[in-house]
Amino acid sequence: MADRKCVGKKYEYFLKDKLGSGTFAEVVKGQNKQTDEVVAIKIIKKSALEKYGDDILEQIQLEVKILKELANLSKQTKCPFINRIYEFLETANNFYIILEYCNQGTLYDQIKKVKKIEEKEAIFILFQLLQALSLLANNNIAHRDIKPENVLIKDGVYKLGDFGFASQKSLYKTHLGTFPYMAPEFFNSDSYNSKVDIWALGLLTHEVLFKELYYIGKSQYDVQQKILTKPYLLNDQKYKISEQLKNLLCKMVNKDQNARISAQEALADPIFDFCKHDPRYQNIMEAEQLNWDHLNKVDQIQETIVLQEQDTPIGGKKQKEEEEQQKRDKEKLIQEKNQFIQNGISSIKEGILDKIAGITLMVQLADYLYDNIQQVCRFEILYILKQATILIQQLRDRLEQKAILGKHDHVKIEFDSEIWMHFYEDISVFQLIDDLENQKNKMKKKYIDYVKQFNSFAFQNFPDNYQKVESIANLNLSKLIDIQLYQDQLFTKMQFLKQDSLKTQDENIKNQIQKCLLWMYAVYDYQKLCSGQLLNIQKFIKGIISNDLDEMKSCLIVS
Ligand code: AMP
Repeated sequence: MADRKCVGKKYEYFLKDKLGSGTFAEVVKGQNKQTDEVVAIKIIKKSALEKYGDDILEQIQLEVKILKELANLSKQTKCPFINRIYEFLETANNFYIILEYCNQGTLYDQIKKVKKIEEKEAIFILFQLLQALSLLANNNIAHRDIKPENVLIKDGVYKLGDFGFASQKSLYKTHLGTFPYMAPEFFNSDSYNSKVDIWALGLLTHEVLFKELYYIGKSQYDVQQKILTKPYLLNDQKYKISEQLKNLLCKMVNKDQNARISAQEALADPIFDFCKHDPRYQNIMEAEQLNWDHLNKVDQIQETIVLQEQDTPIGGKKQKEEEEQQKRDKEKLIQEKNQFIQNGISSIKEGILDKIAGITLMVQLADYLYDNIQQVCRFEILYILKQATILIQQLRDRLEQKAILGKHDHVKIEFDSEIWMHFYEDISVFQLIDDLENQKNKMKKKYIDYVKQFNSFAFQNFPDNYQKVESIANLNLSKLIDIQLYQDQLFTKMQFLKQDSLKTQDENIKNQIQKCLLWMYAVYDYQKLCSGQLLNIQKFIKGIISNDLDEMKSCLIVS
């Protein structure tokens, strides 16, 4: 069948059997062809990682090492509470992690689905996950990304999953500003250990019990401050659980990592006594023993198969050549696709940079007018700055709505969702988004400063008209000034300056006014300016800097 894919000799999957996708990976349901066991296969495309540079590749080497350790640990230790990693495979283009398949989704889905999880059930879940953390701590491994999405459920058993690239993922999420499970030491200390997982598990249990994220806020900074300063307290009426559980949770969500309870200490709490005698737990452990025996047997069989395969002559020469040709064709296709995606990403980025350059030009003009002809262009300065401030905000919004169309957006090149997915995974994009945010704030501040100055000028010199001035320069930064009004205003002022330039005898002043006129003309049609239709902005700015009017003129694309 066309959409059947093989991973090595042992595993296969169908493209349609997608289970989910994470930051770097796609997870599909697959099968071990030798044992018929259903597995989950996590596919990580190398191409999606390469663009992050050497740092991420080093990080991945480290994570691969942890994954291999965990795969070994899974074989040696009877811990059904860690999503078992069967194998880690690498091909020219991908990494594959073969995982135990969990048939009941994630804890995140469960929290969303059910109305309430009772205290006893929450303790039973905590009991299982603490055993996972205890095993990790004994092996000096910190998961670093504990959250309900990373707890998988298989036949009622809760399993900690997603170890691969966990730290990298957290970094990624940090950029997006969602880190409600991060321990304080991530922010205020150079060192942290597996106790970060206890903190996160405490907050995860809080969420299971109360359907509430304890540390949330309006921004990354806000959440971070709360994590660092807001005490974890459960004395509010709404927290209706036993004192014993409250005590344990407070010991887990302790800001001092040294004083914070360890997984092993927590497991000794009598609160878990009932779990140890719960028939469900006994069944889980018995099933684990059976699974353990089965896995060891499969390992032995596989060793025999490998030995037999080595002895078996491999198909005819022709078949091998065909296979190699197919492999080369496939790699070529993948390369072409990657190139296509890269081109798409570059085009989106260039589109944004072009628009930023256009908007920056508007701000520069406002500053130029302010420094040189403030007396005659008072309102224009405000018009331009306000327009620029709102345009930057719109650009941010469009970025989020995937509505940016590339370098020349009048040409309308639409990008498919895969390009956008890769675009948002590109680390430099976060830089771009941060830059936009900074620019927006800077411009807003500048606008407000100018408004204040003009208002006080109007108040002192034209007290009768002050109200009118104030209403024109209102601080509503969510609504663009009507384009016609904006253009009329600039147009009138351009005519005025033109007459002035004709009248003046002083070459210097003439030159200055003409420069200003050219600049105003460029900004006059700001929508065209911001979509690269009006002028070559970079060249234009060079002309401004070198005071070369001809260069500036030659950049204008006058239709
Ligand atoms: P991840 O990249 O680990 O965040 O996985 C993305 C999604 O794939 C998860 O939210 C799950 O829905 C699904 N998934 C991951 N691992 C497994 C598994 N072992 N068994 C079943 N589904 C999984």
